[in-house]
Amino acid sequence: MKKTILAIAVSSLSFSVFAVDQIYWGGDILTMRGESPEYVEALAVTGNKISHVGKKDQLLSLKKSHTQIINLGGKTLLPGFIDGHGHITQYADALEQAELSPPPVGKVESIPDIIRELKALQKRLNIKDSQVIIGSGYDPEYLKEKRHPTAAELDAVFPKNPVILRHASGHMLVANSLALKAAKITAATPDPSGGAIIRKPGSQEPLGLVQETAMTPFLPMIITKRPMQKEMSLLKQALDDYAKVGVTTANEALITPEKMEVLNYAAKNNLLSIDIVGLPFYLMANDVIGTGKVKWHEYNNGLKYAGLKIALDGSPQGKTAYLTEHYHTPVPGCTGHCHGFPNMTQEEVNQIFVKAYQHQVQIYAHCNGDASTDMMIKGHQFAEKKLNTPGIDRRTVIIHSQVMRPEQLDSYKKFNFYPTFFTNHTYFWGDAHMANLGAKRASFISPMASAKKKGLKFANHNDAPVTPISQMMVLWSSVNRVSKSGVVVGPNERVSPYVGLQALTSYGAYQYRDEAIKGSLEVGKLADMVVLDANPLKIEPLKIKDIQVLRTIKSGKTIYQAKL
Ligand SMILES: [Zn+2]
Repeated sequence: MKKTILAIAVSSLSFSVFAVDQIYWGGDILTMRGESPEYVEALAVTGNKISHVGKKDQLLSLKKSHTQIINLGGKTLLPGFIDGHGHITQYADALEQAELSPPPVGKVESIPDIIRELKALQKRLNIKDSQVIIGSGYDPEYLKEKRHPTAAELDAVFPKNPVILRHASGHMLVANSLALKAAKITAATPDPSGGAIIRKPGSQEPLGLVQETAMTPFLPMIITKRPMQKEMSLLKQALDDYAKVGVTTANEALITPEKMEVLNYAAKNNLLSIDIVGLPFYLMANDVIGTGKVKWHEYNNGLKYAGLKIALDGSPQGKTAYLTEHYHTPVPGCTGHCHGFPNMTQEEVNQIFVKAYQHQVQIYAHCNGDASTDMMIKGHQFAEKKLNTPGIDRRTVIIHSQVMRPEQLDSYKKFNFYPTFFTNHTYFWGDAHMANLGAKRASFISPMASAKKKGLKFANHNDAPVTPISQMMVLWSSVNRVSKSGVVVGPNERVSPYVGLQALTSYGAYQYRDEAIKGSLEVGKLADMVVLDANPLKIEPLKIKDIQVLRTIKSGKTIYQAKL
């Protein structure tokens, strides 16, 4: 009892006598509180929280000998960015994979370029015979050959190593013969449910390309168990890279048992410099829901398990997203009218909804196509009817919400569904979507402006390592929607920079149920902040992607500072 009183006395003492640790002033301090821009003159941090906002003179009068005064020199202070969906541990893994993305991210424009990058990786990491070589980010849309590489092409150069090429979407891969052998995939292997093994023309022999659930047997080769020390050094590099772009809350949206071990270890040893919101994959549902193994919805040393991840379909650029109206261009492994396909059955979706809702676990569902979003709506209705618990704030998240029908936004509103959009698609695959989906559907991908009109709160994301971690690029794509060839993909769905920023801050916090502690610069919230060299609300919109992050602050501590 005595101890508690003492603790209270000390904490109030620290506010009155030792306050404040930092005072920021001298630039645009954009709070991101509310629905329109609000600026304050100065902001003070005490410990890990924002303790004061207000007039400069008032706040500077709180200065004590230890107080750091930070003159922003005309730069802009904002809440730290919240990544609405991504894969920080896969980003860490990709540090040891060949970068096969097309420019401007990588340097690959042809199949010989892929071979060159794989050879360079083999040399850099000193990969021995029989060890796996992995490359990621290749995209046939941007290869000169306009097709996926084949097993035979990889065999010719790498006869002694299993080789795996991961498609830019993460929803398919190409394997060479040794990798196919290790995955036990032969001419006799049937296509798994929710997946496809693409065959050589006129035969059952695998060609090399496998899609969706057919990738599962390759996972042990991709998610290799490394010594924990190695895992931590890769994760540290990833955390530093995220801090560099101003992200103070990252996401790992596909947690396997191996990744859970890595993240738990990092949290336990206090190694997380930014927060990570983790979503265990639904195949772990029986292990993590209702067993006490996972403490849902609370941060422990920077790690929070926020909900369960399910994946209903593939990707629109890989033409595996599940659509009600068919693709307009040929689809590998499919003839006639091709609609993509679901990765789960409706019955599986229904049962997952019931299980998660019963235990108040939030659902985060990957849906790129409108037909899979329909499955989500049905799953929700099934569970609500069965459990009969109306009025609970489920905040079910639909990841990507990419190819949608306008009326589905009304269902989102009605069922309290919450989209995390992926507006970077308008730049990276906007031209391909125009061809594959037709202008009408392509123009409505990631419909942020329509969602705003409906009063929905939405996040935005880069889905790293699918597109680069640059929150300014994400913002730029939501404001401009310009494709690689310069076409504006759906001009009506462009949003103002302020709305684009809401997706990365206050609305992003809401998605993760963090609105009480993050997302805006308000007294009592965590001092998660970023300093930018220009104000996104005042710069020419096409220049937003060039804005530099100068400083990133997590819980009052500077974790990144640009060298000027
Ligand atoms: Zn993802």
